[in-house]
Amino acid sequence: MNKVLVIGSGGREHALAWRMSLSTTVAQTFVAPGNAGTELEPLLTNVDLDVSDFSAVISFCQQNQITLVVVGPEQPLVDGMVDALSAAGIACFGPNQQAAQLEGSKAFAKDFLSRHNIPTAAYGEFTEVAPAIEFLSSQDMPIVIKADGLAAGKGVVIAETQPEAEDTVRDMLADNAFGEAGSRIIIEEFLQGEEASYIVIADGKNFIPMATSQDHKARDNGDLGPNTGGMGAYSPAPVVTPAIDQQVAEQVIQATLDGMAKDGMPFTGFLYAGLMIDSQGQAKVLEFNVRFGDPETQPIMTRLRSNLDELCLAAINGSLAKAHCLWDERYALGVVMAEEGYPMAYEKGHAIQGLGLVNEDIKVFHAGTRQSDGQVFTHGGRVLCVCALDDSLGEAQKKAYQAVKRISWGSEYYRTDIGFKAIR
Ligand code: AMP
Repeated sequence: MNKVLVIGSGGREHALAWRMSLSTTVAQTFVAPGNAGTELEPLLTNVDLDVSDFSAVISFCQQNQITLVVVGPEQPLVDGMVDALSAAGIACFGPNQQAAQLEGSKAFAKDFLSRHNIPTAAYGEFTEVAPAIEFLSSQDMPIVIKADGLAAGKGVVIAETQPEAEDTVRDMLADNAFGEAGSRIIIEEFLQGEEASYIVIADGKNFIPMATSQDHKARDNGDLGPNTGGMGAYSPAPVVTPAIDQQVAEQVIQATLDGMAKDGMPFTGFLYAGLMIDSQGQAKVLEFNVRFGDPETQPIMTRLRSNLDELCLAAINGSLAKAHCLWDERYALGVVMAEEGYPMAYEKGHAIQGLGLVNEDIKVFHAGTRQSDGQVFTHGGRVLCVCALDDSLGEAQKKAYQAVKRISWGSEYYRTDIGFKAIR
């Protein structure tokens, strides 16, 4: 039986740890540091660890005979957590530091994609203002400007006009708006189409697709308003037709795994390709993430029926070719409940009412929450992700919103149209 440690504190980690704890081959699941949701789960134990202190994580694993560590967020992966734990003999699921550059550096990812002929938007890479502005003068608007490094999902600006594009370039390169992450930028062609996420589990050579899903990045209904970490998601996503599925599996995912192996940095972990699918059904890579998406994880984990620990260990051991993944055939849809103001300034510390009123077949994953004396309080921008499972996406949507309406803290904000593109 496995003893598992999940690293992170968001909705994604609540969902991963919850699914882990339901595995028939898991004896115990810890979450470091976790949130109020993982604290309240009967099968999970929160651990108060500073996860940026790898030696503290290693000591905890050794003292508690942890047989598998799963790293949720990107930062510890980019900082080399897998390398440190593996060197100490601990099975740690995720890419090593070199392979994590696929997310850690957009310049690395774009260079990799173009060298290996994997479809992506045309681009230029710049560290100086003058050549970047010169390049802009020959480009059509809108145009996309991206900080090279990790910027917590905020380092991408879509500029509608030349002056706006030039200001963004100056903000990033000269005024350090994104600090070190923006000292190098990518300027890329604006792609039209519908976005989808394609997430797989990979063992360096082979992969198994996770269920398809679609995220809703914009804050407001109809995909309007500022970009956020994600306001809701559903799975499966009909936009990924069997033809697109096959195209992405071969031309994006397998090509990426082959390219990474050829470049001497085989990729193990969850690989997430953010895609733009055009009206001809051609998919191009917008970005890679080297971990599961949040909130896509929440509906996807609601549907997973296989033992997640066994899949992760098969990936670490290079034996995914012999593994398989079982899914609940039904649709899962998750609505993110956020604090008013998010993704800009927002308040914290509101008492959440109604969590106990939710039916058993609804799963409420916590993100920015904190518990004190049995009361749960808001403690972040994205607070909860309310997930429902049903035979049709429309029914799953109805069920999720019925539950959402029972939960409140006075300043909750959520989109009321999650799933609209697939339901319309
Ligand atoms: P990224 O972090 O690179 O995925 O960018 C964040 C979001 O910006 C994406 O989910 C898209 O909505 C948008 N985006 C990024 N690159 C492009 C592009 N080349 N064309 C259109 N939209 C883009």
